[in-house]
Amino acid sequence: MSEPATQAADRYLAAARAREESLVRLTCDLIAAISVNPPGDEHRPAAVVERHLKGLGVAVSRHEPAPGRTSLLASIGRSGGRRLLVPLHLDTVPAAEDSFPGAFKPRAEHGLIVGRGAVDDKGPLAAVLIAMEILQADERPLGGELVLVAAADEECGNRQGMDFLVGKGLIRGDWALVPDIGHSMGAVDVAEKGLAFIEITCRGRAAHGSRPADGANAILALAELLAEIEAWEPSERHPLLGRPTANVGMISGGSAPNMVADRATARIDCRYLPGSTASGPLRQFEELARRVAARREGVSFSMRITEEQPPMEVDTASPLVQAVREIAPRITGRPVELLGMGGTTLCKPCAAAGVTAVGFAPGSASAAHTAGESVEVRELVEFAAFTAALARHLLG
Ligand SMILES: [Zn+2]
Repeated sequence: MSEPATQAADRYLAAARAREESLVRLTCDLIAAISVNPPGDEHRPAAVVERHLKGLGVAVSRHEPAPGRTSLLASIGRSGGRRLLVPLHLDTVPAAEDSFPGAFKPRAEHGLIVGRGAVDDKGPLAAVLIAMEILQADERPLGGELVLVAAADEECGNRQGMDFLVGKGLIRGDWALVPDIGHSMGAVDVAEKGLAFIEITCRGRAAHGSRPADGANAILALAELLAEIEAWEPSERHPLLGRPTANVGMISGGSAPNMVADRATARIDCRYLPGSTASGPLRQFEELARRVAARREGVSFSMRITEEQPPMEVDTASPLVQAVREIAPRITGRPVELLGMGGTTLCKPCAAAGVTAVGFAPGSASAAHTAGESVEVRELVEFAAFTAALARHLLG
């Protein structure tokens, strides 16, 4: 870059501070544009984003797989070169009026913005819009493209949002920065576990409830298997992610108290490590099931994967990771640790589309999805400056 990175960081921080008032107003406008998912109604905050970008002279494209389920794409800089994507989401989780009064009447007080979506993900979205405004005001245009992706449906599985955009071939780029992990810009998410929902069905033999020995109880056999799964100790270990996990989340079975149950089903959420696939834990559970079935006459198990999201892992020597760890401390004064996550972010669909993606965000993850969700204005200002400096550094 033509200007030393420290100088650029200082300049962008000053530019972001000068826009603090409009950053706060934008965040509040986005929160007030209610987009609780379900049903979503992402067209409301999308209109706020469109209005702001039109004011900057930036073209916006709209993508709606269903009425009101709006996702937006907008880019600044020179096309044909490198592309840095910043995917965020427009929807939020619900907020009940009795537990979180005024969730959609955002207020800014004592340096905090309070409202549903303040940190997840509307405050960060406003900060990225301000970063685009700062870069547009620069004398020299970006040497590549900074692409804002404001996606629908992140809180309910991405089908109406990021998955739709990936399917249309619209998620193309060299890098993606996903501002949706909290951690107050102190950690960069470079690895995420894979997710597999596994449905286990046990079949036994029905009998009259007064003669349990005549049947083969599917509920008891399944309970025995679930205890084995709880005690499961996978040998694999990842330096940032630890071990795979399994959570028994749902169970059903039987048809009457006076019958021996001939059928029972459990659903398990299994998080597995990069380098493995969902069939890894599936095979281990099948082995446990074979042992239980061998101990119990008349019982059999079957398993299937009902949902799968592959893991992702980014090379920490990647220019994106290096740039985040170099630039952010110049703005926040704090180092950036490497982080692995058991949860999933928009990094996953980006990685699936061949884009190197990391999670990095302002605000506290513990504030997301809570009553009284809030974000510090100072952090949003710093994140706007960081995003501008990162784009300038990576794209020239
Ligand atoms: Zn989020």
